[in-house]
Amino acid sequence: MTPTRAEQTLLEHYVKKILAAPVYELAIPTPLQAAPALSQALGNRILLKREDLQPTFSFKIRGAYNKLVQLTPEQRARGVITASAGNHAQGVALAARELGISASIVMPRTTPQLKVSGVRSRGAEALLQGESFPFALAFALDLARQTGREFVSPFDDPDVIAGQGTVAMEILRQHPGQLDAVFVPVGGGGLIAGVAAYIKYLRPEIRIIGVESEHSACLQTAMAAGKRVTLPSVGTFADGVAVAQIGEHGFDICRFCVDEVMTVSDDELCAAIRDIYDDTRSITEPSGALAVAGIKQYVAQSAVSGQTLVGINSGANINFDTLRHVVERAGAAVS
Ligand SMILES: *Cc1c(COP(=O)(O)O)cnc(C)c1O
Repeated sequence: MTPTRAEQTLLEHYVKKILAAPVYELAIPTPLQAAPALSQALGNRILLKREDLQPTFSFKIRGAYNKLVQLTPEQRARGVITASAGNHAQGVALAARELGISASIVMPRTTPQLKVSGVRSRGAEALLQGESFPFALAFALDLARQTGREFVSPFDDPDVIAGQGTVAMEILRQHPGQLDAVFVPVGGGGLIAGVAAYIKYLRPEIRIIGVESEHSACLQTAMAAGKRVTLPSVGTFADGVAVAQIGEHGFDICRFCVDEVMTVSDDELCAAIRDIYDDTRSITEPSGALAVAGIKQYVAQSAVSGQTLVGINSGANINFDTLRHVVERAGAAVS
């Protein structure tokens, strides 16, 4: 990749924002952990970035806190609104409580009680509106307009992207040696944009590989079309990445910083959850296992060996009852 002058300026802008992001007032630096069994099985050195260990069990707390902490005193006083059925909601609720900002979170009426109470127990207001996410989002945007409260996007915001980019800053510090590729789960593209901007600015030789669910491949579709495309429908087994259109700010970076985007099936995700459990004795949610599923498919297809590959374990918010389904399906994937 040889970025143009304008592209290089954009990356520099993000790197500065990432270095200045005060996320550690709330987020923790997570371990970059070796996965010995997976490494042996795949003939490559596999390292897992354990974002499932964050206080809200996903990296979303980084971007949410970085966004809220940058608001002016007037904006803070008016409060914030967001729409989310999942990890972003928990991140905003916790960051808002920490900063003394009032937060309203619009969630689809179908949201599991576990997640509604997760938001309420962190002191935020949970408004149940709409049959599915796009309706909840429309309601939240309307409410933000009427009330003058700041809308906090889960991914399409430079401050959110910069907060997520701190994951890459940690990876390069924790592993200064040879690193061949970083596999990043993709929903609306906030995480991969922050990670790709930081890594391509400092270590452009490291490949950035996006991994999407085959039921919500909005980045792969956009890369192929050369522009953002809205998918007609999305599957929700990997609910953390069930997004129909890649974010505008994120796509500005992904366009020239992402080397490859791959898709994986639900069965491959279930098998990857099992692999992660075998190596770490921890459970990830389906979206949280995208990177490992991507690494397995990548090694099988490209036959690389002896490389160092990092996968971001992005979250662990899974209903206990869903595990039964995961265990049944884990055996179905060719692994
Ligand atoms: C939000 C989320 C993602 C995707 O992040 P984007 O910034 O939307 O691309 C991946 N995994 C988990 C667990 C998430 O919560």
